[in-house]
Amino acid sequence: MKRVSLLGSTGSIGTSTIDVLNAYPDRFELISLAAGRNTDLLVEQAKQLRPKRVYAAENVADVAEQLKPLGIDVVYGEKGLEELAADTDVDLVINGLSAGVGLRPTLAAVQKGTDVAIANKETLVVAGHLITKWAQKTGSALLPLDSETTPLWQTLQGTNRNDIKRILLPASGGPFFEWTKEQMATITREQALNHPTWQMGPKITIDSATLMNKGFEVIEAQWFLDLPVSKVDVIIHRQSIVHCLIEYVDYGLMAHLSTPDMRLPIHQALVHPEKLPSQIEPLDLAKVGTLSFFEPDTERFPCLQLAYDTIEMGGTAPAVLNAANEIAVYAFLDNRIGFLDIPAIIYQALEDHNPIPATEIETLFDADHWARKHAQKLVLKYER
Ligand code: MG
Repeated sequence: MKRVSLLGSTGSIGTSTIDVLNAYPDRFELISLAAGRNTDLLVEQAKQLRPKRVYAAENVADVAEQLKPLGIDVVYGEKGLEELAADTDVDLVINGLSAGVGLRPTLAAVQKGTDVAIANKETLVVAGHLITKWAQKTGSALLPLDSETTPLWQTLQGTNRNDIKRILLPASGGPFFEWTKEQMATITREQALNHPTWQMGPKITIDSATLMNKGFEVIEAQWFLDLPVSKVDVIIHRQSIVHCLIEYVDYGLMAHLSTPDMRLPIHQALVHPEKLPSQIEPLDLAKVGTLSFFEPDTERFPCLQLAYDTIEMGGTAPAVLNAANEIAVYAFLDNRIGFLDIPAIIYQALEDHNPIPATEIETLFDADHWARKHAQKLVLKYER
């Protein structure tokens, strides 16, 4: 029995994870659940799945009252979330939290030596080198939960990194793949939230539309896969059927294909190293017919290039990238700035930052704090 803590249980990763856990009830025991705003669904999940403990970000008293008769403890606040992650009764923490909230619980779990399956990209973007260093020290395994990185991570187990020429991360290209820069200046919140393939939360949906999500995956890849970024390329693939490609030094190319369904990477990570039937629809290639690929255009989608640039800059730069992006994305979602102002604000924040090496987590938190405040000021400049 693997004892699991599910953080972010009401989001797209959380609900897909519950489907996967429910398919193999004899393998997994759910110890705790944590969720943000959707407390109604959280209570419903807790009543059904009967964890020992629940974290609620809002309506804490109400959640506690509803779950008390079932003997379920309710915790809250930043410490409460870290407590669930650091619980020694847990073998695997699944981090499906949204944006910046995800970092501290991952740290708490890693410091206890607990394995963490990470869907929250911001965690490794901000603190990848520290988290991987600590994980090595404590013996905590870091498992990626994403349609690209999970099959890559699984396929590359035991592969000599010198045998790999490069990996290719496919990106759908988002809803604006064919738009001109002039058209892109007029993009509305509603248009940007309409992702062609995946149903996800608003933050990651905008990150997908700007290609920052793919930039984050490039940064993550070096930590999860132990590959230098010079070996990580991005390719636009409109159908989201090919999820990753591995090019070996002999130029042979291995691809991983499946129906696009987040339950597959979650299933792969949870039952690893076994292969077991999953709940997804088998892929009918004849029905798919055509697979198309294109070069990414970093002129229209500068966020992807900015992510590569921050890896070069190193130290605190990726933390600034992440924080400035988060502020800009939420400003766009609030209809305060335009779509193209998102990369402009991140670019300016990086220009105004002098990256320093980060050997302590506090240095990264300081950079994050500075970048958020600075990006807020930049938003005021771009506000329409
Ligand atoms: Mg992805």
